Amino acid sequence: MADLTDRICIIGGGPAGISAAMYLEKKGYEHYVIYERQNKVGGKCFSPLIDVNGESRTYETGAIMGAITYHAVHEVEEFAGVSHADGPNMRRMYRDKSGKEIFPFDPKKNFSISKMFSLLKLKKQMKKLVEIMETKYKGYDCYGHRGVAQGRYNGLSKGLDDALQMIDGENPNLKDLALPFDQFCKLNGVEEVMRIWIGPYTSFGYGYFDEIPAAYVMKYLDTTTAIEFINMRLWTWKNGTQSIYEAANKKLKNPALLNTEVVKVVRPAEGTDGKIEITVKDEAGERTEEFDQLIITTPLDHFVQYADARDEEKELFSKIIHEKYVDFIARFDKDAGPTISGYIFDNMTVERLGHAMVYYHRWEDQQANCPSTVYALRNHMGSTDVPYDKTIDLMMEDMKACGFPVRERLYEQETYYCPHVSPKDYADGWYDKLDAMQGKQKTWYAGEIMGFGDMEDTCAASRDLVDRFF
Ligand SMILES: Cc1cc2nc3c(=O)[nH]c(=O)nc-3n(C[C@H](O)[C@H](O)[C@H](O)COP(=O)(O)OP(=O)(O)OC[C@H]3O[C@@H](n4cnc5c(N)ncnc54)[C@H](O)[C@@H]3O)c2cc1C
Repeated sequence: MADLTDRICIIGGGPAGISAAMYLEKKGYEHYVIYERQNKVGGKCFSPLIDVNGESRTYETGAIMGAITYHAVHEVEEFAGVSHADGPNMRRMYRDKSGKEIFPFDPKKNFSISKMFSLLKLKKQMKKLVEIMETKYKGYDCYGHRGVAQGRYNGLSKGLDDALQMIDGENPNLKDLALPFDQFCKLNGVEEVMRIWIGPYTSFGYGYFDEIPAAYVMKYLDTTTAIEFINMRLWTWKNGTQSIYEAANKKLKNPALLNTEVVKVVRPAEGTDGKIEITVKDEAGERTEEFDQLIITTPLDHFVQYADARDEEKELFSKIIHEKYVDFIARFDKDAGPTISGYIFDNMTVERLGHAMVYYHRWEDQQANCPSTVYALRNHMGSTDVPYDKTIDLMMEDMKACGFPVRERLYEQETYYCPHVSPKDYADGWYDKLDAMQGKQKTWYAGEIMGFGDMEDTCAASRDLVDRFF
């Protein structure tokens, strides 16, 4: 356990690091230092300003949206004095791989009896899924994965209430959540719902349903959040998601030290009382500082490369898999870009790995001259990765097929995205092994791997850590 006078090192100034500092401050801890290697905070929430017709506005290269279930993000918003009330509206349409507009969920468009029956089947299975998640899989919507592989749940339930409820109990059915999501759906006779869940899951870079444990899918897209997605009742931020963490960072007693990378960690032997030595590299060179506690919010499989990792850390963190999500902001030929966001459903299959799956049109009033962000995945467990350059070429061709010739690519990137473990490692209790290691050598684990690779689950993991151990 930590002490209020402890000096605490936080590695990373993304949503996890900034929210960890906020929750620590709320509990009275003041002696923390956040090290951030980039020249800005926010991590994968990066909202650059782009000039269109002489006016500068924010666009998104990383996180875009939230929903009513973003309770922890809302706590950061309130601390920061930021609101999602004035963000641009989300609007969308659907296309097939040839770029043609399709209407998969509108019974009146391209009406046929078989389409009507298929939509009725989908609706029935959606209802069934909502019911079984509340009954057979009671407890599934706790933040994090502690105990799930053993059929237990413990933690705050996301739910809809403002006051989050602490729930705790046993439910052996939860073990099914280790199955790949497609098998989970088959087991429960709700395969059709994958047609809905695939939009905000696979196209958002979180992987394919034959490789991802159902726990990640259903904890991120719990039935409440999924329904908010379907109805497009989503939160966005006028100044971009980055503005939440920039503003929160400014309110902190100790704002993050930018351009400062943690390059070495030496910890006292287990059970002893020495200091943790953290070596950082900044413009002035390298220096080593002493701390009493260490919170890692950055990828744990990277941590073992620069820290004095124990064998059990090396072994456990070697199991972490991440997605290779590629995106760029495109400027299109004059008056020739999209006017609304689009989902290209055909491209969300493994056979179409590397193709553009979705594009985001942010500012409605900019019509066909709004730069838009285009996204593709280039990896799948068991398939060969599509090379990065090939992925970019495919994405460019796909936009052209939709009728949007890209004139220029801005802010092109591949991110270390959505760290997770395989269905087998999930079932083997990976998360309980991680939880058992919390606090050893005064080291605490936070960040995306703890819950899910989105803003809410990362901020909630920081809250959970501080609540339980600080
Ligand atoms: C394209 C894209 C779209 C997304 N869309 C959404 C969305 O719509 N909604 C949503 O909720 N989420 C979305 N996300 C996910 C969300 O951005 C992430 O889950 C969230 O940013 C994770 O926060 P984090 O702090 O755990 O990690 P990160 O955001 O990755 O931050 C980690 C930070 O640590 C720093 N760092 C790493 N190593 C070191 C080191 N050795 N020393 C010092 N600093 C270090 C990094 O520079 C970085 O700033 C999206 C992400 C991407 C890329």
